[in-house]
Amino acid sequence: MPVVNRIADYSADMTAWRRHLHAHPELNFECHTTADFVVERLREFGVDEIHEGIATSGVVAVIQGRGTSERITGLRADMDALPIAEETGLDHASTAPGKMHACGHDGHTTMLLGAGRYLAETRNFAGRIVLIFQPAEEGGGGAGVMVDDGVMDRFGITEVYAIHNVPGLVQGSFTTRTGPIMAAVDTFEVFITGRGGHGARPQETCDPIIALLGISNALQTIVSRNASALDKLVVSITQVHAGTTDNVIPETSYICGTVRTFSPDVQDMVERRMKEIVAGQAASYGVDARLAYTRGYPATVNHANQTAFAAEVAAEVAGASAVTSDGPMEMGAEDFAYMLEARPGAYLFMGQGESAGLHHPKYDFNDAVAPTGASFFARLVERAQPVAR
Ligand SMILES: [Zn+2]
Ligand SMILES: [Zn+2]
Repeated sequence: MPVVNRIADYSADMTAWRRHLHAHPELNFECHTTADFVVERLREFGVDEIHEGIATSGVVAVIQGRGTSERITGLRADMDALPIAEETGLDHASTAPGKMHACGHDGHTTMLLGAGRYLAETRNFAGRIVLIFQPAEEGGGGAGVMVDDGVMDRFGITEVYAIHNVPGLVQGSFTTRTGPIMAAVDTFEVFITGRGGHGARPQETCDPIIALLGISNALQTIVSRNASALDKLVVSITQVHAGTTDNVIPETSYICGTVRTFSPDVQDMVERRMKEIVAGQAASYGVDARLAYTRGYPATVNHANQTAFAAEVAAEVAGASAVTSDGPMEMGAEDFAYMLEARPGAYLFMGQGESAGLHHPKYDFNDAVAPTGASFFARLVERAQPVAR
């Protein structure tokens, strides 16, 4: 029976798993009951090895095929939810106040479970494959922690793949690209200290609010004056804080924001210019200003051969017209980047049709696309690691 048809038979089970996971969201590295659920399913499927507690609550499963293979495919799903109060009103809505699967990681976990069930039942591949269920994608970099914990070497993984759902993209379609697909994310904070005093006597103070405004304006010139028009770069100030009332000039002020880049050269330039601008502006206003620049997830960079291969498999599963292999870069970030730094591989977006956007309190994963994602993973393994005839 073709993969797609067989996995379609799992639809009702997959929907039930997904809705159970949706109702029980967990945050960051603390995906323990989610991991327990994953492990229970994997035991039912009869996978060969289950390793728990990697990166706190990550789970790795190994399924043995027939004979040997040079390639050992790693398939990754993220399991964590977001600190958002759900507003869907659905029967399977979150039962955990203030927590919600608003990025569809419940669906990603379900798709990988569906693929695992099929692969454990059929074993129509050579060598072994590795299923990776990670915590802490939404902050904490769980994928990087799993790599640091030795997942790639320990299980001999030679290449890695992952899918993320996308609202607004045609249901069941795929888009990917060779090279950078998701941006690097850095965070900056500026702590400004002046000299507070009476709002009526500014001459006796050193106003940290004026310095905040000067620094905030000057930071806008990094994109407009320091970067090439051809560079892809975002510098956004997302928080400013200063003051408490109408007649007091405060002692301190605070700026915080995000930087998105695709190239290490541009990233280095932004950090250097921020240091120069903050120091120069601080001197001109006579305040102390300290910059804290923190590099977060690196850019997610797809490898050419694995991306072409994944696009071929997606075309087999979804139809050639439903696959875009030269899709756009996204300014969002993704910790699968760390796995793609460790091994060649590819990251794909899969459309889930019209819905509320990711990270929105009315978002819900579309169960209709789960079998498509599972079939993609399953066929990827069968084609990467064919059984010798
Ligand atoms: Zn997200
Ligand atoms: Zn996500």
